[in-house]
Amino acid sequence: MTTSNLLPEVFNVVAGRHVAGRSTFPKVNPADGAVVAQVHEADAEIVDAAVAAARHSLKTWGSSPVGERANLLRRVADRIEARAEEFVEAEIRDTGKPVHLVRELDVARAATNFRSFADTIASAGLDSFMTELADGRQALNYAVNKPLGVVAVIVPWNLPLLLLTWKVAPALACGNTVVVKPSEETPSTATLLAEVIAEAGVPDGVYNVVHGFGPGSAGEHLTTHKDIDGVTFTGESSTGSAIMRAVAPAVRPVSFELGGKNAAVVFADCDLEKTLDGLSRSIFLNTGQVCLCTERVYVERSIFDELANGLVERAKELKLGDPHAAGTTTGPLISDKHREKVQSYLDLAVEEGAEVLVGGGVPQMEGELAHGAWIEPTLWAGLDNSCRVVREEVFGPVAALIPFDTEEEAIDLANDTEYGLAAAVWTTNLERGHRVARSMRVGMAWVNTWYLRDLRSPFGGVGLSGIGREGGLHSLHFYSEPTNICVQL
Ligand code: NAD
Repeated sequence: MTTSNLLPEVFNVVAGRHVAGRSTFPKVNPADGAVVAQVHEADAEIVDAAVAAARHSLKTWGSSPVGERANLLRRVADRIEARAEEFVEAEIRDTGKPVHLVRELDVARAATNFRSFADTIASAGLDSFMTELADGRQALNYAVNKPLGVVAVIVPWNLPLLLLTWKVAPALACGNTVVVKPSEETPSTATLLAEVIAEAGVPDGVYNVVHGFGPGSAGEHLTTHKDIDGVTFTGESSTGSAIMRAVAPAVRPVSFELGGKNAAVVFADCDLEKTLDGLSRSIFLNTGQVCLCTERVYVERSIFDELANGLVERAKELKLGDPHAAGTTTGPLISDKHREKVQSYLDLAVEEGAEVLVGGGVPQMEGELAHGAWIEPTLWAGLDNSCRVVREEVFGPVAALIPFDTEEEAIDLANDTEYGLAAAVWTTNLERGHRVARSMRVGMAWVNTWYLRDLRSPFGGVGLSGIGREGGLHSLHFYSEPTNICVQL
């Protein structure tokens, strides 16, 4: 591990001020193993101050006119775009992702998230009902939406800014104030976002940031805090379970986007080239570190070999390397610790009888990159649904290819999981595409595509994959408390 002399410091943000912690922890760039920042950890006192700042700002922000809040959110989007390259560099430093991915996905979506929720809140209506009783009385019911309150926002490291803004934008749109806890692996863009939120004119204390870890650190201090009104969380299913226990005594609402073990079902009548392009993107994008990534591919037996060979070729075309180099398609895993976990699954797959079609190990990288958390894109055959590597989320660039004979069998195999986030169906028979997509026990099913959707549509999972839906009005429902007012006329 190397250390630079001019390390940036990443601070907590409370009521618009940078707050130093009593201790700091190093942030390592996973592309080359260099320490790139020192992060100020929030203890219970700093978390207390952040929650108090959010509580203090709630009265004025929560009662401000909706149109005013929507305009401020649009200005936040403008400021993200104006400082886009700073966000891009911070995100690359934290994650080692290829520059084109950070620019086109993470940072572009952050600005879009603020604009999209500004539009949604500005056009949202209220429920109203007229009651007419048999005795002639009439009453007008109408529901007014109030903010949920002080919301704890806890996010993971795989799409740090994208997932953070996906929660912060609707929370602020609805008049909530927030205390956010980014992942300890990717702290930088949350603090940078505080700057642009202030530049846009959002009052101090509406957006606060605490840095640190989960248990015994900022994450636990926040979720067990008596003065938060709800938790919105994206991360592992087991962490979701711990957070549920933490908020249970105070009966606080939760919105959870959790893990996945997503299936693709490939029929013999698929457009092979398009399917190979789509599948390889769905398995390997962001080094397999997207909750929606495909880790199980069920293939109709008659095209199994052809599809497997094509996918192996696609995997070999991926270019691992310097995140800033134009041709790089694939970055490292997020950390050495995560690579150890992924490697343990590579070993387990072989123990469970996998035939390794491609990859299966750690690649030889040149120069400084040799110190990074790199892993080879990997495909397996010879496994079935009883294997742990086919049942547990690996969260790396890996997939098991498994043959099937009938549509019914494919549906059963795809649904044979405790997770239920996403699925993809590849076929040129659209009737079958609709039918199979509907049969998937998931929150999101694609036909002949992957990771494409309108931001107003519901996003979320069933089973171990989450509680609730986000996106458009679905997000507004979680972040609002309606009060029904009934007036006899
Ligand atoms: P993680 O659960 O380890 O950590 C997520 C966040 O929770 C981090 O900020 C972490 O510090 C915090 N945390 C951990 N323990 C905590 C505790 N006890 N109390 C409070 N906070 C705690 O997840 P990760 O490794 O950062 O992210 C990868 C996981 O996220 C994968 O399972 C992936 O599928 C999932 N994910 C899901 C979605 C989705 O939309 N469904 C999107 C992205 C990632």
